Amino acid sequence: MGLRIIPVGGLGEIGRNMTLFESERSIIAIDAGLQFPTVEMYGIDFVIPDFNYLRSNRIKFKGLIVTHGHEDHIGAISYLVKEFPSITIFGTKLTLELIKARITEKRNFVNQSNLPKMVEIHPDRFYNCDDFEFMPFRVNHSIADAVGIAIKTDLGYIVHTGDFKIDNTPVDNKIFDYHTLSDLGRKGVLLLMSDSTNSERKGFSNSEKEVVENLDYYFTKAKGKIIAATFASNIHRIQQIFDVAKKYDRKVFVTGFSLEKNIEIAKQLGYINFERNFFHPLEDLKKFPPSKVVCIVTGTQGEPMSVLTRMAENRHKQIKVEKGDLVLLASSVIPGNEHLVFKNINKLYELGATVVQSESDDIHVSGHAYTEEQKIMIHLTRPKYFVPIHGEYRHLSIHASTAQTVGIPSENIFLLKNGDILEVEDQNIHVSGNIEPENIFIDGKGIGDISDIVIEERQKLAEDGTVAVVVTLTKEAALASPIEVISRGFVLIDNSEHLLEKAKDISNQVVNRWIIDGSNSWDDLKKRIKRELKKYFNEEIARDPFILVIIVEV
Ligand SMILES: [Zn+2]
Ligand SMILES: [Zn+2]
Repeated sequence: MGLRIIPVGGLGEIGRNMTLFESERSIIAIDAGLQFPTVEMYGIDFVIPDFNYLRSNRIKFKGLIVTHGHEDHIGAISYLVKEFPSITIFGTKLTLELIKARITEKRNFVNQSNLPKMVEIHPDRFYNCDDFEFMPFRVNHSIADAVGIAIKTDLGYIVHTGDFKIDNTPVDNKIFDYHTLSDLGRKGVLLLMSDSTNSERKGFSNSEKEVVENLDYYFTKAKGKIIAATFASNIHRIQQIFDVAKKYDRKVFVTGFSLEKNIEIAKQLGYINFERNFFHPLEDLKKFPPSKVVCIVTGTQGEPMSVLTRMAENRHKQIKVEKGDLVLLASSVIPGNEHLVFKNINKLYELGATVVQSESDDIHVSGHAYTEEQKIMIHLTRPKYFVPIHGEYRHLSIHASTAQTVGIPSENIFLLKNGDILEVEDQNIHVSGNIEPENIFIDGKGIGDISDIVIEERQKLAEDGTVAVVVTLTKEAALASPIEVISRGFVLIDNSEHLLEKAKDISNQVVNRWIIDGSNSWDDLKKRIKRELKKYFNEEIARDPFILVIIVEV
């Protein structure tokens, strides 16, 4: 066996990134993230990758390398560590601290005493995990301390970019590792696995530096309070807001659990700078005129419990949105959250505020490479083979075309699906099968106790409601009492009594026929009632409610 590469998440979708690398002796993974649910996934908190392949190769699984601290790369680690407590986690300083904070949160299973072994990594140095040797390299991204990973093999390097962009004027002055990558390219890169998120966007992404200039502009224009909403993990954006606030002498108020926690971690590690007593407690907000304050909050995605949503709904105790306030949404909207975000924006306008939105008003730049940056990555590394990663199928597909325009032959490009097994043997790469990973849904404390079938049921319930039929039978299989039909979310009962009465009649007829037929099977009875009612509701009102038949024996 040569080397096996298996992406278990992040292909054909945005989120829950995880890729496995398997040698004769061991398995390592890059990233273990979560995915936020789409609107059709009713009641689901999030989705994580399937660990089944790791379960069946438990002894071989040795370590996890994490590229950066975003949820779609670290969000599944607590579940992974619970099942595989002896693995070693490799990450840069900030990434490891964010992982620690994340996996020791109350609802998780890890605490300070049973933390997994963690190894801090630095760009441009080599590390070993069992028989794997790898080197992180510095990339730019919308979170500090992000790296890509180069895995050394006998056949050449395998370069995994993680999430990346190229920013020649980044906030922290840590420049993209052009030299290391071109050096790897000279030594020989067998395979490049590269971030496809923005493969539809032509040209170069903007530098963080432009955000500073635009923030500055809005600070000069704002007459009332400035309310800046950002991702809690976007330490650079928070630093930019701090700097501009200081320049215009606005007092800074920070509120939101994750935001306060991340700022504290970043401050301790030296990733963010501000003077002592820079923040003011929310109680003091009233002491300053609106034109002298800036509130930094979370809630850019319209999350129902977030500070910004509570403010938009006028439910926040201390921060009231007033006429003249300026709200800056300094993060892009994750696809699927648009309706929640626009709901908030409408409400904020109703309260008299003006809202400035991320990319359209240039107070946010993307953290992912545009096509020209993707091309630079290919030119620097000069790979023999290419696998686009991180993206829905169209992103991967467009990235593949981009790779062809810069000289990668189409037969050397692999458009993979989650679970595909990419076999690397003697300079030759091919797909040998698929491990068929499932969607693991997390709902409250349940892990994977919800399947696609449950999601389908929830969709049906949400779209057409439910009808329950209660049949009470005697031991001799005769009706003991009249059949009951109850509905929820189906029709307004007052207006549709006849519909439910008719459903009762139909059920009655079915039960009588079932008795005459002498069938003793309850399953058979349930099926017959469901079939007849489905037909009736469909013909009568063109609806397809979830029908539940309950048989009770007395
Ligand atoms: Zn990221
Ligand atoms: Zn990502």
